[in-house]
Amino acid sequence: MELEAEILERINRGILLRTGAYLTDDHFVLSSHRHASEYVEKALVTTEPAFTEGLGEIIAKHFAKSQVDVVLTTGYGASILGYCVARAHPSRPRFIYATKRKRKEGGSEVTLRREFHRLFAQGAKVLLVEDILTTGETVKALIKLVESLGGQVVGIGTVWRRSHKIKFKYPLFTLVDREFPTYSPKECPMCQKGIPINKEYGTGDEERSQGTSLRE
Ligand SMILES: [Zn+2]
Repeated sequence: MELEAEILERINRGILLRTGAYLTDDHFVLSSHRHASEYVEKALVTTEPAFTEGLGEIIAKHFAKSQVDVVLTTGYGASILGYCVARAHPSRPRFIYATKRKRKEGGSEVTLRREFHRLFAQGAKVLLVEDILTTGETVKALIKLVESLGGQVVGIGTVWRRSHKIKFKYPLFTLVDREFPTYSPKECPMCQKGIPINKEYGTGDEERSQGTSLRE
């Protein structure tokens, strides 16, 4: 990575640290059951409007030279960010969101409300925005949707690409491009040092929210 890009990424990671979405120097159990000393809490990324606007501006600036007619997202967090990207882009694009749902046969599919179809003219230039890229499946579904409607994907803007294996056929711009190390419980250095597992985040979090819903 170039030095400038590395510095920028460190600044962006600093913003996420301040939102509380990025946690470090701790001990987490991920949903994959692997352990890590870092964690990204997707739900917290867009909780501070001033920071979300700032992140949206950086993404908009990166794609400022491209004509963008529509910014398209799906999901709550990505939509808040996508709105900020659209607001900051010089083409004054429309902002629309697709609806995501889990398929019975596995994976998820995205659909666009009929009311949005007229905003999505043939050949429309579309910028996709996602908050955290974990598998890239959601973005791939959005690309398919845009192509099926006759639009052209200009690029993809995201806050964090969590795995370097995630690649698309269109230009990707990510504020943070960090694949942090994860360990099997047997080889986990935090376990070996006896650092207690953070129960508030990671799989501890899932157990807690299940408990909460049972009590309600
Ligand atoms: Zn551990």
